[in-house]
Amino acid sequence: MSVNSSDYDVIVIGSGIGGLVTATQLAAKGAKVLVLESYIIPGGSAGYFEREGYRFDVGASMIFGFGSKGTTNLLTKALAAVDMSLNTIADPVQIHYHLPNNLQLKVHYNYEKFLQELIVLFPHEAKGIPAFYDECWSIFNCLNKIELLSLEEPRYIARVFFQNPFACLGLAKYLPQNVGDIARRHLKDPVLLRFIDLECYCWSVMPASGTPAINAGMVFSDRHYGGVRYPQGGVGQIAQKLVAGLTKFGGEIQYKARVSKIVLEGKQAVGVKLTNGKEYFARRIVSNATRWDTFNKLLPSEAMPTKEVKWQHRYQKSPSFLSLHLGVSAEVLPPNAECHHVLLESWEQMEQPTGTIFVSIPTLLDPSLAPEGYHIIHTFTPSWIADWQKLTPQQYEAQKESAAANIINRLETIFPGLAQGLDFQEVGTPRTHRRFLNRVDGTYGAIPSRQLRGLLGMPFNRTAISGLYCVGDSTFPGQGLNAVAFSGISCSHRIAVDLGIAH
Ligand SMILES: Cc1cc2nc3c(=O)[nH]c(=O)nc-3n(C[C@H](O)[C@H](O)[C@H](O)COP(=O)(O)OP(=O)(O)OC[C@H]3O[C@@H](n4cnc5c(N)ncnc54)[C@H](O)[C@@H]3O)c2cc1C
Repeated sequence: MSVNSSDYDVIVIGSGIGGLVTATQLAAKGAKVLVLESYIIPGGSAGYFEREGYRFDVGASMIFGFGSKGTTNLLTKALAAVDMSLNTIADPVQIHYHLPNNLQLKVHYNYEKFLQELIVLFPHEAKGIPAFYDECWSIFNCLNKIELLSLEEPRYIARVFFQNPFACLGLAKYLPQNVGDIARRHLKDPVLLRFIDLECYCWSVMPASGTPAINAGMVFSDRHYGGVRYPQGGVGQIAQKLVAGLTKFGGEIQYKARVSKIVLEGKQAVGVKLTNGKEYFARRIVSNATRWDTFNKLLPSEAMPTKEVKWQHRYQKSPSFLSLHLGVSAEVLPPNAECHHVLLESWEQMEQPTGTIFVSIPTLLDPSLAPEGYHIIHTFTPSWIADWQKLTPQQYEAQKESAAANIINRLETIFPGLAQGLDFQEVGTPRTHRRFLNRVDGTYGAIPSRQLRGLLGMPFNRTAISGLYCVGDSTFPGQGLNAVAFSGISCSHRIAVDLGIAH
């Protein structure tokens, strides 16, 4: 069955946070929107699942963008656009780092406290440390002054430039820069520079030399401004609330609705076809799937624009993750433990598979996610899909068991008694990420395949195919929930202008 083309203004393929923000913003402006999600719940990498009394986040748990002031609190703004809000819990420490040679460091919400702790470890860099992080603040201050909308809309660019010329010039200066350039201007100590690499790697999966300065300006400053905040009830609440807002404003969402192809009429995207054969048509099509999934799978190969071929040369897929979702007895956690930890035993291993271990214990902020007396530990580490293929089911299970045991063993240094205190364990591999998140090779996102100039190479939302837009982490400005919320806000702005409903 197909419906005729006037039935929808916009179809969004996928209900990740990027897709949902696009859909809700457009619904709030009066557009008729349909979201098609292949999974059974919304959220994608910001979704959740429940097992034996535990509610686990599938991915993200260190959430930026929930502040109450400035212009960069985009999750707060995206929810408010459809009359929604969330209770969030402030996290006083962004990350507790456990570093080689027993270096320990906490990134406190309080900026001065964090700087002082770092200076105690590197006293000979007492001038360079504040100079480096202050320069990151200057980027954030520029961003946080201007209304963040589509950089593909010339009238908006002219308006913000007129209103904030200095902030715009500041951002233009940093757009082609990477963090490594700034760090080396201020810092000399090789270990400290490795630490800055790790500070970037935690969210960009790239060392400082490959991490855009604009993104670092956001993360290194907002953690001390809006702060890291955890949504009460779990990260899945963000998508649930956005869906509630979408339907409140007349939008529709279908689950178990997997798009198998984008329908073209001539060179224009006009609709989508589902795996069950249904077709839907709209004036604009948005893909929240990754760029690789969009252009290599949903479109015929002859429709691949040259621009995308070039992009796929400039950027490559980052690794996926090996994820352990653990339920543990409360005694396992030391008193005053922090919610987020990063463990790295050797600087040389930072970028190697399973080299860096990330830990999140959301029940320290919201105990309702686990049975009384128990906590959730979600721990994950980079892992390539190639290491999990061509295995028999028995070999796959055995490899999962041994990889999980290895991670738990390493985490015993932070949480002695962890193995003994396990109440529940579920292991996800890159294959799990590929299957449930619908992301090619389970990738976390796009990373530069060679030295690039900051964010200049990341594409915006319009594509070379008329009527087709992309949104989410393989568009500007990249991975992370607040980043994809920006992508969604800018995508919806561009579409609203194209449809003549921007106001
Ligand atoms: C383990 C892990 C930890 C992370 N930690 C953090 C963190 O602490 N903080 C943070 O900010 N970010 C974190 N991230 C990153 C963040 O979660 C992602 O960058 C972000 O959620 C991506 O959102 P998105 O909208 O681009 O797409 P996705 O979340 O990938 O959603 C895309 C949606 O589209 C659907 N879809 C795809 N193809 C089709 C199709 N053909 N038909 C129908 N539906 C389709 C998918 O099912 C999915 O629901 C983490 C990610 C992972 C994996």
